[in-house]
Amino acid sequence: MDALIVTLPGDGIGPEVLASGQRALDAIADRYGHSFHYDQQLIGGAAIDATGSPLPDNTLASLRDCDAVLLGAVGGPKWSDPNASVRPEQGLLRLRESLEVYANLRPVKVSASLRDASPLKGELLDGVDMLVVRELTGGIYFGEKTQTPDAASDLCTYTRGEIERIVRVAAKLAGARRGRLCSVDKANVLATSRLWREVVNSVMADEYPAVELETLLVDAAAMHLLSRPKDFDVIVTENMFGDILTDEASMLAGSLGMLPSASLGDSTRGLFEPIHGSAPDIAGRGIANPCGMLASCALLLRHSLGLDEEAAALEDAIEKAVASGARTADLAAPGSTPLSTDAMTAAILKFL
Ligand code: NAD
Repeated sequence: MDALIVTLPGDGIGPEVLASGQRALDAIADRYGHSFHYDQQLIGGAAIDATGSPLPDNTLASLRDCDAVLLGAVGGPKWSDPNASVRPEQGLLRLRESLEVYANLRPVKVSASLRDASPLKGELLDGVDMLVVRELTGGIYFGEKTQTPDAASDLCTYTRGEIERIVRVAAKLAGARRGRLCSVDKANVLATSRLWREVVNSVMADEYPAVELETLLVDAAAMHLLSRPKDFDVIVTENMFGDILTDEASMLAGSLGMLPSASLGDSTRGLFEPIHGSAPDIAGRGIANPCGMLASCALLLRHSLGLDEEAAALEDAIEKAVASGARTADLAAPGSTPLSTDAMTAAILKFL
């Protein structure tokens, strides 16, 4: 197959892990006889430095004809002046909005060989395999913002239609997995959450009666994620709660560097990125964990290109490399010699 992939390296460790992702896609293309073409564009702080905009027109134009978008990460101290009028993260929000990717899929699976890398007790982790479906283009991140020296506000809005479509995505995925959906809200306090809960209840009762529904308040969900993580199958939640809960859930897998994400809309063209940020504390040293990026490439192969076998082969290679003891610094045991980003990538691709 021929595919055009827009690549957006971004800032910090973004370009470092993106290079690993491209290596993995090239290895898949070689092994399975595909041709992947890349169109590298600017986003984030790097784009602000070059053009003044975090999502330049050229980047926006490149999205029109591509099959998928692969992103590193954006942001960093250089662009984090709170009074700046343009910020790297604005590029990311506009990118998600332009691509109309409203469903952010974040799988959290604990590799048996990484049991000891998590700060949680091993017996809590065996068998953890959950999928968090985060609403991505609504809620407080996109609402109107005001700020004066003494007061500030962020508006949180959801419409019935926005909630219905994300619940349907999550319910379908739950139906194809273990048949359990947990909806997370804050309905005891927030009006948006009360609408959320009403819509979830009605969509599930009318359209997915075979999927078991559980509802949790977000504060309780934060606790249950650590006390009984293996009970969760699919979790569906709004934008900000999903952002926070998935960083928490990443600790189950041992490191933020392990987790991938796929952002999807109504077409197959998706946005794929590891869930971590630009990690300025380790940027430029070649030590970032590429697993989250490589697993994001697997999601790209599956969801945008329909290449299920290739996706599974890449996920299997990551699992086998980790099981063989390959570790970057974020996961390496004290006293052991960790692999660089490049060496970890090579260790994974050896298993393809
Ligand atoms: P972060 O995810 O960049 O880093 C948090 C911690 O995890 C750091 O100690 C970092 O070294 C470590 N880490 C992250 N990814 C890793 C990897 N692949 N390998 C090894 N260690 C890894 O979060 P932060 O420090 O809060 O934010 C840094 C910048 O990234 C900020 O400007 C923030 O706005 C931005 N950010 C961007 C995105 C994105 O582009 N999608 C997401 C989150 C944060």
